[in-house]
Amino acid sequence: MKVYNYKDLSKSKIEELCSRQIEDDRAVEERVEDIIRTVKNEGDKALFNFAKAFDKVELKKLFLDAAELKAIASSIPADAKKAIETAYQNIKIFHQAQLKSEDKIETMPGVICWRESRAIEKVGLYIPGGTAVLPSTFLMLATPAVIAGCKEIVVCSPPQSDGKTNCYLAYCAVLLGIEKIYLIGGAQAVAAMAFGTETVPQVYKIFGPGNRYVTTAKTRIQNKVAIDMPAGPSEVLVIADDTANPAFVAADLLAQAEHGADSQAILVSNSNKLIEKTLKEIENQLSILPRKEIASKAIANSYTILVENLNYAMDFSNEYAPEHLILATESHQDLIPLIINAGSVFLGNLTPESAGDYASGTNHTLPTSGFAKAYSGVSTDAFLKKITFQHLSINGLKNIGSTVEILAGAEDLQAHKNAVTIRLEEQRYKNKEQ
Ligand code: NAD
Repeated sequence: MKVYNYKDLSKSKIEELCSRQIEDDRAVEERVEDIIRTVKNEGDKALFNFAKAFDKVELKKLFLDAAELKAIASSIPADAKKAIETAYQNIKIFHQAQLKSEDKIETMPGVICWRESRAIEKVGLYIPGGTAVLPSTFLMLATPAVIAGCKEIVVCSPPQSDGKTNCYLAYCAVLLGIEKIYLIGGAQAVAAMAFGTETVPQVYKIFGPGNRYVTTAKTRIQNKVAIDMPAGPSEVLVIADDTANPAFVAADLLAQAEHGADSQAILVSNSNKLIEKTLKEIENQLSILPRKEIASKAIANSYTILVENLNYAMDFSNEYAPEHLILATESHQDLIPLIINAGSVFLGNLTPESAGDYASGTNHTLPTSGFAKAYSGVSTDAFLKKITFQHLSINGLKNIGSTVEILAGAEDLQAHKNAVTIRLEEQRYKNKEQ
C-alpha cells in the first residue's frame, strides 16, 4: 500500500488519486449490446440459451414459484434463519421510518400545494449470484420495495449449478412474501426486465449491483427504464487517528479489499504510528484470509495518506466522495458537520462497515466511483415517486391570477394567459349577476 504525504500532493495528483480506474472495456460493451439485442428479439428462448452458455445449466423453466421456494427455504440452518430475521427486522424498522407524509402548504391565501408519494408499480431487483449468492442484497432491495408498496416486484438471480437458487435467497423470498425468483443472471436479466419477455414482466425501474455485464447493461437500458444509480467497484475510506485500534482499521480495510481486485481501501491519518501499525496488521490478517489473492490485489491498488490534522483528512474525503466512510476516532462527532460527500458513514472505533453491510438497518446499495457527490444510497424513497397537487379557491384564483397573466404575457404564451383570464372573467360575470 503506497503512503503519500498530503502536503506534498499537487492538485492534479489529488485528482488522480480520487479518480477511479474504471477500464473502458469495449469487448464487454459489445457483448452486452449483443445480449440485450438478442433478449429483445428472442425473449425466453434467449434466456434459456444464455443460462446454458454462461451459467452452465439447462433450465426447464425460468423461475421458481412460491411452493418451490418454500421447499428450498426449509433446508436453511437455524442460525442463518435467525440472522436473516434479525437483519430483516432492523432493515424494515429503519426503512419504514422513511415513509413520511408532507403537510399541505398555503403558498398564498386560497392557493394550496402539496406532495403525495406513490409507489413505482413495477420494479426489478437484481440479486448477484455468480461467484456468491447474496441474501443481504435481497433484503436491502426487497424490504424497501415492499414497504413502499410496489405492486409487482420482479426478482432475478443467476441459477446455481443445480438449476435452482440457494436456501438463503429462498428464505428471504418467503420472509418478504415474494412469490417468484427468476433464474436469470447477468446482462440478460437486466434486458429481460427492461423489455419484458413471454415469462418475465417488464418493469419501470431496475435496482441492484452486479458484475461488469450487469452494470454495463444497466447503463445501456437507461433510455427505456430508470435505474437506481450508476455502479462501480466497492470502496471504503477510513479516517483514523491515534485513538483508533490499528487491528480494527486493518480489518475494515481488508473487509473491503476482499470484495474484488478492483475494490479500493484507503486510509487517511494524522498519525504515522497508526499508519505503520495498520500496515503491519494488514500483512498479518491478510495471510490467513481465504480470499487473500483477491484482497492482496485490491490492497496493492489502494493507498494511505498522512495528513497534518483531521480537517485535511475530511477535505480529501469530500473530494474522493467514498461509498463508505469510517471515522475511526474518538472525536468522530466533531467531524460530522465537515462531511459533504459520502454514501454511508460509520462512526467511532466500534462501528465496522460490516454492520451496515448486513444488519444494522441502513441500506448497503450505495453510490460508488465518486457518485456520492450527487447520488444517495437506495432507500424507501427510491421506490416512490412524489406527485405534486394544487387547488385554487376563488380567492386563490383572484390572488394569483394577475401574476400568472403577466408572466405568461411576458413569455408570449397567450393560451397560458387565457386559461387564467377566462376563469377570472367568468367570476366577474357571476359577481355582476348576483
Ligand atoms: P453476478 O450475478 O453479477 O453475475 C453473474 C452473471 O454474469 C452470470 O449469471 C452470467 O450470466 C454473467 N456472465 C458471467 N460471465 C459472462 C460472460 N463471459 N459473458 C457474459 N455474461 C457473463 O455475480 P458476480 O459475477 O459474482 O458479481 C457480483 C458483483 O456484485 C461483484 O462484483 C460484487 O462486488 C458486486 N456487489 C456489489 C455490491 C454493492 O453494493 N456495490 C453489493 C453486492 C455485490
